[in-house]
Amino acid sequence: MSTPKFIYTFEEGDGNDRMLLGGKGANLCAMTQIGLNVPPGFVISTAACLAYLQDQRLPATLMTDVRAHVSGLERKTGKVFGSATNPLLVSVRSGSAMSMPGMMDTILNLGLNAGTLQGLLAQTRNPRFAWDAYRRFVQLFGKIAMGISDEAFDAAMVAIKKKHGAVHDVELTAAALQELAEAFLAIHQEQAGRLLPEDPYEQLELSIEAVFRSWNGKRAVDYRRQFRITPAMANGTAVNVCTMVFGNMGNDSATGVGFTRSPGTGENVIYGEYLVNAQGEDVVAGIRTPKPIAAMAEEMPELYRQLVALRDKLEAHYREVQDFEFTIERGRLYCLQTRNGKMNAKAMVTTSVAMCGEGLISRERALTRINPLLLEQLLVPQLDPTHKVAALAQGLPASPGAASGRVVFDADTAEGQAREGERVILVREETKPEDIHGFFAAQGILTSRGGKTSHAAVVARGMGKPCVSGCAAIEIDVRGRMAKVGETVLHEGDIITIDGTTGNVYPGTIPTIEARFFDELATLLGWADEVARLEVMANADTPRDAERARGYGAMGIGLCRTERMFNDPQRLPVVQEMILADTLAERRSALEKLLPMQRADFKGIFQAMAELPVTVRLLDPPMHEFLPTASQLEFEIGQLRNLQRAAHSIAELPDMLQIFDPDLPRDYVESLGKLQRSLGEYREAKRGDAALERREALLRKVHQLSEVNPMLGHRGVRLGLSYPEIYEMQIRAVLEAAAECTSEGIAVRPEIMVPQVCTAEELKRVKATVDVLRSEIEARHGVKLDFRFGSMVEVVRACMRAAALAEVAEFFSFGTNDLTQATFSFSREDAENKFLPQYIEDGILRDNPFEILDVLGVGRLMQLAVEWGRGTRPGLVVGICGEHGGQPEAIHFCHQNGFDYVSCSAPRVPIARLAAAQAQLAAPRSRPARAEAVPTSH
Ligand code: ADP
Ligand code: MG
Ligand code: MG
Repeated sequence: MSTPKFIYTFEEGDGNDRMLLGGKGANLCAMTQIGLNVPPGFVISTAACLAYLQDQRLPATLMTDVRAHVSGLERKTGKVFGSATNPLLVSVRSGSAMSMPGMMDTILNLGLNAGTLQGLLAQTRNPRFAWDAYRRFVQLFGKIAMGISDEAFDAAMVAIKKKHGAVHDVELTAAALQELAEAFLAIHQEQAGRLLPEDPYEQLELSIEAVFRSWNGKRAVDYRRQFRITPAMANGTAVNVCTMVFGNMGNDSATGVGFTRSPGTGENVIYGEYLVNAQGEDVVAGIRTPKPIAAMAEEMPELYRQLVALRDKLEAHYREVQDFEFTIERGRLYCLQTRNGKMNAKAMVTTSVAMCGEGLISRERALTRINPLLLEQLLVPQLDPTHKVAALAQGLPASPGAASGRVVFDADTAEGQAREGERVILVREETKPEDIHGFFAAQGILTSRGGKTSHAAVVARGMGKPCVSGCAAIEIDVRGRMAKVGETVLHEGDIITIDGTTGNVYPGTIPTIEARFFDELATLLGWADEVARLEVMANADTPRDAERARGYGAMGIGLCRTERMFNDPQRLPVVQEMILADTLAERRSALEKLLPMQRADFKGIFQAMAELPVTVRLLDPPMHEFLPTASQLEFEIGQLRNLQRAAHSIAELPDMLQIFDPDLPRDYVESLGKLQRSLGEYREAKRGDAALERREALLRKVHQLSEVNPMLGHRGVRLGLSYPEIYEMQIRAVLEAAAECTSEGIAVRPEIMVPQVCTAEELKRVKATVDVLRSEIEARHGVKLDFRFGSMVEVVRACMRAAALAEVAEFFSFGTNDLTQATFSFSREDAENKFLPQYIEDGILRDNPFEILDVLGVGRLMQLAVEWGRGTRPGLVVGICGEHGGQPEAIHFCHQNGFDYVSCSAPRVPIARLAAAQAQLAAPRSRPARAEAVPTSH
């Protein structure tokens, strides 16, 4: 029986097989095979991990196989595992198919024991180095393989530093480090209940098992859940056993991390940091503050040249920006790791356009390598540049964007406060993987230590959250729940603002402004538009919104909600007048006042969107939304009554006083008389009464309009048919605005859509009004309008009756929010506040259907409606509007199902444009016949 192959040397492993070898392992193999200087090593595959997790023990032959491969390393390095004269030391590193920074740990210097330590001492003649290596190994092995917490080790370190008067680790002498190693060994024995194993193979075996187990550790499981990493994407971790190289062997040694291009701006220069005479984790852990790579060009010019060559080789091979780790041991450069660089949106876009220009990648790749959701960052708020607040302190600009929030000093508090709805900034000395839940909860992260490649920086950048790192001016006292910045004391709960673009930290809240489009983004999205089959419209309700949407590249407005205009403070009283009207005549008079306002708004929008379609939705929400709430009115009425009573009593006061106190001083009497007279005038004018009456009338109306379930009540087209004069006014406003624009030579393409439709009959009635008004207005203005009439599809019955609706409607616009509510019979607020989170946690539902379109249920209805609608009217234009319109999965769904457009909020337009292109690249489709025939319509 042949045993399965679980182990691959770096020379033989398939660099493309990340599932089997993990990302780190596959890349170590690939780098070895393209001739980069990687220390010899081998990969134990994820298959071995899965076998271990299933059987709860290592596959029977695994350790024999490991021994054979260690012998291989001994041949390549000339060193011997466990030798007391020429010891081979290795690192044991985890790595799965998906990069999970900091999620699983690495053991360094494995192979050290009392005997091999002597070998290292004799060989290097550097006791400081040898003891340092040993104490690192004891701590890492104890922590990772034996599960001993860092605390005891950290405390011992602090004690030794104190005893020897050292501020930094590097100041510790060999003797002090020896003392430390011995203390660590004692901690190991005490906490693990056994001596640290001397046999290097036992060390190796325990470490391999620990790495495998860490796959199912809490941190790793949480991370996978948060980022939706399924077994199909990454299943188990590999173990990489890699010969140790040392960056801490003196001043001709160093260690560093680099990006082949800047992950903050995309600029084509090596970006990174290094530390002379240090071991890798010193850079990553952010314990010493490293130097920028640029400094290396002067400090170690020959090695810098080698680093540039390394960068070029990496990019030529991967055709992608790489994030790599290197170590220089006594003047020799080794590459220890590479992976695709995690960059912010600006850098992704810039490098896409640049690498395409350099011929490194195709246009297609330039479009597909960017996660569309990342673009949201580009449109994230930046600090208002005119603010005058002086910075409290400056750290490193580790992840761009700005955020304000309450200071919290640990991840658990951050999580708790965020759950209460607070915006928080997580403030730590440095962060560790176990702080991950605090990152999810926080608006931004601030650390007092660590560089731009520290854990905090990398994780924040990945999440697109602002981060300021290495802000040394801040002294944090976690126990005291406070931090000091010079004279200023920050208590937990105080508000600060951080700017991850500049590294500044400010007291209080600073207003933010939106970011602007830059050239590369425009170029990239231009390419996307050329590829995409879906058109991307925006939801915009005002001329200002419309201009902004156009700026973001919207190809029209897919949803213009008229009620937003009604809510304008200047109009609301007129709207209320209309609602309060008791007679048709009164209502018409209020509507006449609204007409010119709406017409002017539509004109503004048409002008902003000239030539592009603008879909206006007739009034949708129930009337009571334009009135104050009953409890608000009751409160005000109570207050007004009290006021009236008080005014009445005060008016009586002077007479009363004079009766009971005839000796009242003269000036008293005079001023009281004055007050009495003015109160008399006030009452005469009945101002108070009018205010009271108005509120009482409003309250009566509110009671009248009150519904048990307003969202399913008198709203949308139902309201429009009960009060036809309202829709008539709106339709007139749209058509007259269009006619006026046309007369002025502005090309406009108005569309009217009717909300909440459930039967074709409703549509027919509104259409009749439209037809009458249209011919009247066209005749009066002597113009022909390019106009379209359509229906929202957001009611289940509308989907079922799509064939009939399409007889009247020229387009369907799916209102996926209401349709989702209707399909699930969930009210969104109640669902999200009560049971949805639990449903998702328990896996009853995979996603929140209000965030991620429920393709299986809601989507199925949409498919049927499109099929039946187009059965009646082959050229039926179909799109979606609402929040799902900017969500990549929904966009793929729309693309695959022959939709013509999606419409989303303006800031999501860039996301949608890119996602639409990716949908086409993933599953090419030709433009629908209609779009070909009538290229101007959507
Ligand atoms: P991570 O997944 O956290 O990046 P790594 O396996 O890359 O973990 O290791 C953590 C640190 O140890 C890195 O700085 C890395 O460069 C260093 N390291 C790992 N293996 C070796 C080795 N063989 N020689 C020297 N340093 C190493
Ligand atoms: Mg790690
Ligand atoms: Mg690494």
